[in-house]
Amino acid sequence: MRRSVVRRCYATAGGYVFAKSAEEIAREQGLSRVARLASNENPASPSEAVIAAGLSALKEGNRYPAARAAAVTVALRRLHGDHAFLIGNGMDGVIETVVRTVVEPGDRVVISTPTFSFYNLTAAAQGAEVVEVPREPDFSVDPDRFVEACQGAKLAFLCTPNNPTGNVVPVDVVREILDRTDCLLFLDNAYIEFSDVDYRPLMREYDHLIEGRTMSKAYSLAGLRFGYAFVPEWLAPHLEQAATPFAVNSVALAAAEAALADRAHIHEVVAHVRRWRDRFMAEIPLPVAPSEANFILIDVAPMKGDEAMERLAAGGVVVRSCRSFPGLEDRYIRVSIGADWENELFLEKVRDLR
Ligand SMILES: *Cc1c(COP(=O)(O)O)cnc(C)c1O
Repeated sequence: MRRSVVRRCYATAGGYVFAKSAEEIAREQGLSRVARLASNENPASPSEAVIAAGLSALKEGNRYPAARAAAVTVALRRLHGDHAFLIGNGMDGVIETVVRTVVEPGDRVVISTPTFSFYNLTAAAQGAEVVEVPREPDFSVDPDRFVEACQGAKLAFLCTPNNPTGNVVPVDVVREILDRTDCLLFLDNAYIEFSDVDYRPLMREYDHLIEGRTMSKAYSLAGLRFGYAFVPEWLAPHLEQAATPFAVNSVALAAAEAALADRAHIHEVVAHVRRWRDRFMAEIPLPVAPSEANFILIDVAPMKGDEAMERLAAGGVVVRSCRSFPGLEDRYIRVSIGADWENELFLEKVRDLR
């Protein structure tokens, strides 16, 4: 059979779980528009300056993007100071490059669950032995258990604020983990802009830390695929060697460069999320986990995640059922903070769930 050429890790069903498309749900329910609260996207479009930068890059689409990649690195240094950076096709691309650079088949990779699924998928594809360390009942990370799992491991992933639970790992706990293990730690900070924590000072103290960021969430660029990471100086040339050449296209690079400079957009977005996060916490009539991200985890027991998701979809609100997150009981949904009308509609429909 031709199928026998496919690697075992891709031979059976599985992989990344995509949210049902808003178009599909609108069609099924006969609605003209639905609230898209399943993917933690930003409801705000990129700003005019970012759109103009993207368009102008498109005009030079006949050239390879090397010069633009250098320019975006300058913009990153302007914002964050003089670090070494790795850029990628989304943070997903960055994660893939890191795994490809350090993980040999059979190496151990540690993940704190429940969390973002892509670490497991990409590590398994590289032939790693993935070790899952369950979080505590309040979704905090016990440094003893995490450090113990890191003994002899090559790489560990810690997501903070964590997807899908929304909570942060305090800086002191990350510091304790770094002090007690030599394992390379990838801190996924996809939602950091919405939180009150800052792990950047740790980058100067530890040379086994990588801090991953994305412009898909706070920066409104999910469709353009731009992510980056603060990386240790010694690792940077090896990452570059492993990375796909020209992985980030010139339109994404130009848009990212302009968006990094547009601080007003970020301030507005973050203020919007904080305002709505407070309202969600106060007004959702079900148990919610404290969040420092642009989404909220809601306990819908005795319902299952899929049932709550389907009932909300019937009301024109698309949310994420958390059934597919290993390490999480099947009784949660994850709801992104969207535009005003989307959030209002969700608050109306979630009241009917009780
Ligand atoms: C969205 C997300 C990412 C991926 O971001 P991209 O830059 O769009 O690839 C990474 N980590 C977490 C936890 C996320 O939620």
